Amino acid sequence: MTTEPSFRESVDIMFNKAVKLMDLSPGLERKIRVCNSTYTVRFGVRLRGEIHTFTGYRSVHSEHMEPVKGGIRFAMGVEQDEVEALAALMTYKCALVQAPFGGSKGGLRIDPREWDEHEMEQITRRFAYELIKRDLINPSQNVPAPDMGTGEREMAWIVDQYRRMNTTDINAAACVTGKPINAGGIQGRVEATGRGVQYGLQEFFRYDEDKAKANLTGTLKDKRVIVQGLGNVGYHAAKFVSEEDGAKVIAVIERDGAIVNPDGLNIDLLKEHIMMTGGVKDFLSGDYVADGASILEMECDILIPAALEGVINLKNADQIKANLIIEAANGPITSGADEILLNKGVVIIPDMYANAGGVTVSYFEWVKNLSHIRFGRMQRRQEESRHQLLLDELQRLGDDPSITWEMSDDFKTKYLKGADELELVRSGLDDSMRAAYQSMREVWHTRDDVPDLRTAAFLVSIERVAASYLSKGL
Ligand code: GLU
Repeated sequence: MTTEPSFRESVDIMFNKAVKLMDLSPGLERKIRVCNSTYTVRFGVRLRGEIHTFTGYRSVHSEHMEPVKGGIRFAMGVEQDEVEALAALMTYKCALVQAPFGGSKGGLRIDPREWDEHEMEQITRRFAYELIKRDLINPSQNVPAPDMGTGEREMAWIVDQYRRMNTTDINAAACVTGKPINAGGIQGRVEATGRGVQYGLQEFFRYDEDKAKANLTGTLKDKRVIVQGLGNVGYHAAKFVSEEDGAKVIAVIERDGAIVNPDGLNIDLLKEHIMMTGGVKDFLSGDYVADGASILEMECDILIPAALEGVINLKNADQIKANLIIEAANGPITSGADEILLNKGVVIIPDMYANAGGVTVSYFEWVKNLSHIRFGRMQRRQEESRHQLLLDELQRLGDDPSITWEMSDDFKTKYLKGADELELVRSGLDDSMRAAYQSMREVWHTRDDVPDLRTAAFLVSIERVAASYLSKGL
């Protein structure tokens, strides 16, 4: 292959590669692959004394389960093909982590940096209005979330817009996830995708067999990591693996270039610098390289592309030196590059698994909104009093002069504390990431015709989607 296919074609090529190994009827295969519908809207907003027209999309890939789920992206590169590819990935992602949703995605072609906050609110509300009135935002049919260029702020506007248009809907808060806590959000959603990348890596490093395939040994400690993109996902992933697992982030690639430090970068300081100056240039504890993309080809153990799609492609795949690539972004490796890397023996933890932490915690948020109660509210104190009971009893036994032992204060504090919402969310996310990894690796190791984790992930997801269609009688 000499020419690069589009992002959507790339997803289809990888889908076809997996589906060839399955025993699905051609009709069902096609039904699963195609995108069900894409709504395009062009709307005008009067801003700065003029009418500006914006183009937005909401694509629904599969409705084998409803609501359908997926973020809304605000970026200049948004177009139909991209939104459809991203919607398809949502279907497979949700199936893989067993979040009970179909796949969807939305996008608005806009550069959010060009508009001030008030203008962004007007534009977002107007876009939301167009989607709400067609049930493309709805707690039981279609539930968006943040994606590139959007965050808690936009989700708060969207939920408020939905409430204004559906004043008697008791489940209004569940129409969108990724909301701020005071607008019905859940603890741990902002960090969720990055946290999921960390849990995915931790799970990979639990298996010697898997590490051997990537020519790696040991744990995440001291592993040399390169991160591309220090947005929400890249920042949290880099922060957690460096601060908590002892990995060394030796380079970060951003819009304006890269910053390199073989001893490991302090991610919080770097993020602060980026927020203040708009880029990585002039960051004191590292060397600046203007040609950021060249750093993707630098020697490292783990490469984390956490920005745009298609950054590892036919042009640079051959030069990549990482042993392991974990796709924190959606579609960062093109189908052609995927083949090249596979032949080179690079292990790829695929996007539909690697970045599924976001939608997993979105699922928890949606459940929280529908149940109208914070996680842990009923059981936390009860759990604590049962623990206290046990400690009191042990203490009483300890009063027996014939037995000499003492519990450390640290143990007591930790043991006594009932789990709060954040801990429950993290535990639920860890469990989901481990279970999904295990389902994927089982296929990878037991079938000789499955050479990589991506094909394995597709097999698991497609199998689940197919089962759901078949049980519906389709
Ligand atoms: N935009 C995120 C993704 O691509 C999150 C989607 C969601 O939470 O629904 O997975």
